[in-house]
Amino acid sequence: MSGGSGRKTYEGRSIAVTFEAGRCRHAAECVRGLPEVFDIERRPWIQPDNASADRTAEVVRRCPSGALEYRRVG
Ligand code: SF4
Repeated sequence: MSGGSGRKTYEGRSIAVTFEAGRCRHAAECVRGLPEVFDIERRPWIQPDNASADRTAEVVRRCPSGALEYRRVG
């Protein structure tokens, strides 16, 4: 999934998180809120299976820029 927007998808077992780097405002809500899932030192930097889908979704919803989105899978 590439294309004009540059949105990337990080698939987990029960949730998929997408990230559009061009929108990120570096507010760090994600890395502070859930460092098990969001860690910029790691590749891939988003690992949705490291927390419950509910917790991941909650932190994604805190992203102020719309850079992060999620959808439930499975
Ligand atoms: S919460 Fe959203 S805007 Fe903030 S660093 Fe994470 S992705 Fe970027």
